Amino acid sequence: MPEIPQDSALLRMEVGGICGTDVKMYATPPSKAPVIMGHENIGYIAKVGREFTRRKGFKEGDLVFVEHYVTCGQCEWCHLGQYRHCESTDWRYNPDAIRYGYTSAEKAPHLWGGFAQYMYLPWNAVVHHVPKGVTPELAGLVTPMSNGVEWSLFDGGVGYNSSVLIQGPGQQGLSQTVVCKQAGASLIIVTGTSKDRARLEVAKALGADYVVDVQKEDALARIVEITGGKGVDVVLDCSAGAGTMPILLGIDALKRKGGTIVVQGEMAEFPNFPLAKMTLKFVTLKSARGHSYKACELALQQLASRRFPLEKITTHTFGLKDVDLAIKSVGGHGVPDVIHASLMPWK
Ligand SMILES: [Zn+2]
Ligand SMILES: [Zn+2]
Repeated sequence: MPEIPQDSALLRMEVGGICGTDVKMYATPPSKAPVIMGHENIGYIAKVGREFTRRKGFKEGDLVFVEHYVTCGQCEWCHLGQYRHCESTDWRYNPDAIRYGYTSAEKAPHLWGGFAQYMYLPWNAVVHHVPKGVTPELAGLVTPMSNGVEWSLFDGGVGYNSSVLIQGPGQQGLSQTVVCKQAGASLIIVTGTSKDRARLEVAKALGADYVVDVQKEDALARIVEITGGKGVDVVLDCSAGAGTMPILLGIDALKRKGGTIVVQGEMAEFPNFPLAKMTLKFVTLKSARGHSYKACELALQQLASRRFPLEKITTHTFGLKDVDLAIKSVGGHGVPDVIHASLMPWK
């Protein structure tokens, strides 16, 4: 157990959410260093220095959500609450960057990940109160839900009367569905493949107006039919490992002029990208990259509202000894029918 200086705290982990990024990093680790994975972390403040409480307002026993960015606290991005863009959190380009779940456990005081019983919180950890009535397990959805707020509302501009195509009914696509519904979207279409049958049913229960199996139906023809030939205002790509297809479909499915597509693909190459079509349709293309402080706060309020049957998403929990099975199951190779899995280290 680490020493806790006056300006730091110790988190007793309750729930570590597991997402598609874990599946990717577990299969192909970005570095050779030993890493305690787990970047979607909920727990109780177990030990806290006086300065940490004075500066940040958290005391022992508080249930909190910790963003995975450990910030510089000085740059413009940090002052904007956009810690995802701070250079101190940019593990791809900065070898000293700290992110929970990504950082070498060789770096003192070592507890930089949520798939563990305790996690270290320095003065520059980004911590949110979990509202009363939200259980740790429900709070485990805060990351996909805050991405939902960021990508659909802030990036995609979804709001009252918007028509939206959400590609991929995993935990991320389903969270987008909830957020779009709450924001007043008048039409939500969710696409998936034949193995997603159960998830597409969940999408309907959470507010999707139509679901489309892209392996059984001509998805574009169906979207054209549903929208009366108009296309949709916004496309959110939440598919995983589907290559260039969702982006090609997304650009085609957008309305005649001025639609927005938000993508999270990290393919190194995109042969024959339809740039001319995108330009002529006056499409805005945006990149989905994590979440802001504000998006997390809105997501926590969304969870507290109890307005949607979110227990349909929080399908599985695993103990620490089953972390291998848990990550594989989220990747579709293990326990079947997992949508969102929580790692509960004391289970
Ligand atoms: Zn994640
Ligand atoms: Zn910064």
